[in-house]
Amino acid sequence: MKIISVHEGVVPISSSIRNAWIDFSSMDCSIVAVVSDVMRDGEPVVGYGFNSNGRYSAGEILRRRIIPRLLDAEPESLLSEDGQLDPTRAWDFVMKNEKPGGHGERSVAVGVMDMALFDLASKIAEQPLYRWLSDRHGDGTPDEKVFVYAAGGYYAPGKTLRDLQDEMKRFLDQGYSVVKMKIGGTDLHQDLARIEAVIEVLDGDASRLAVDVNGRFDLATALEYGRAIEPYGLFWYEEVGDPLDYQLNATLSEHYRGPIATGENLFSLQDARNLIRYGGMRPDRDYIQVDPALSYGLTEYLRIQDMLKQHGWSSRRCIPHGGHQFSLHIAAALKLGGNESYPGEFQPTGGFADGAVVQDSYVGLTDTPGIGFESKAAFYKVLRELHT
Ligand SMILES: [Mg+2]
Repeated sequence: MKIISVHEGVVPISSSIRNAWIDFSSMDCSIVAVVSDVMRDGEPVVGYGFNSNGRYSAGEILRRRIIPRLLDAEPESLLSEDGQLDPTRAWDFVMKNEKPGGHGERSVAVGVMDMALFDLASKIAEQPLYRWLSDRHGDGTPDEKVFVYAAGGYYAPGKTLRDLQDEMKRFLDQGYSVVKMKIGGTDLHQDLARIEAVIEVLDGDASRLAVDVNGRFDLATALEYGRAIEPYGLFWYEEVGDPLDYQLNATLSEHYRGPIATGENLFSLQDARNLIRYGGMRPDRDYIQVDPALSYGLTEYLRIQDMLKQHGWSSRRCIPHGGHQFSLHIAAALKLGGNESYPGEFQPTGGFADGAVVQDSYVGLTDTPGIGFESKAAFYKVLRELHT
């Protein structure tokens, strides 16, 4: 098995929504296609990857460093002992001459490529990724369905409390029972009114509502909001301070008794380990949200899972950011706690298979080989255009 060519491009995933830090008016995303010499039905088997959402495209790093290094690797050096493509072997080649630390955009570029290699390897094996992965890195009995929650509740121009409630009702109608909304983009008084409006839609059950600050608060505001929202008993209080401010998170965890979630902007094993060492995260209630697509791919995510296990954490405490098919497979195979979902947002890249049905906040996986981009028609069209 040999890689014949790698193609890279950019798609807009822009939107008028806004969280406490950024608007998404110019958000875009890198996509790659890795073409192999394996032929099926007269066509080469191709692996695809993209960089989740929330970080911009990383084309420059892909074109100048990651793709040339991958193509320079001896084809046999990417294969395991049984002669099959082993995506984890690409790491040493694509990371050649890269210093440690400062992960940022580089981890995004490597993550896109890593996703495409895992898609390719499981397609060549004619297995959906979650089964392929469960056999190699899990216990061989993947979950058949995955918990998903609907992330929305963004700020948008002219959006009223009624609009917010209608949005949440739509999520419930689509089969989600747990929903998430943004906070921290206005003052506490208005945010509490927004939170209470959503709790009303949830028939008063605040344990089905998560709130997300997107890293906006300083310690004083984190504690002030924490005191105000603790009595509700929310699903979680997410990314409250700067993602790398472990001391803030640790102090918050001493005061806020409900679950805390964070990690979507930690892009490496080292950063995730520092969160566990210094961030005060509590393995009995808190959640780790590292997004495998943004953080050097599944290869690095497997290392993060090992680290968590060493520190006594269950894989069920992990619910990745991103709302994409790659993490859905990973969640099923590695028995994570679930996966995010953004119904209708970040198209064409985000979301699950076109026919996917969410029931009681769980979604099943399909038997499509690989990650299953082929069963997401609008996105597949864009991906195919990369190499045909
Ligand atoms: Mg978030």
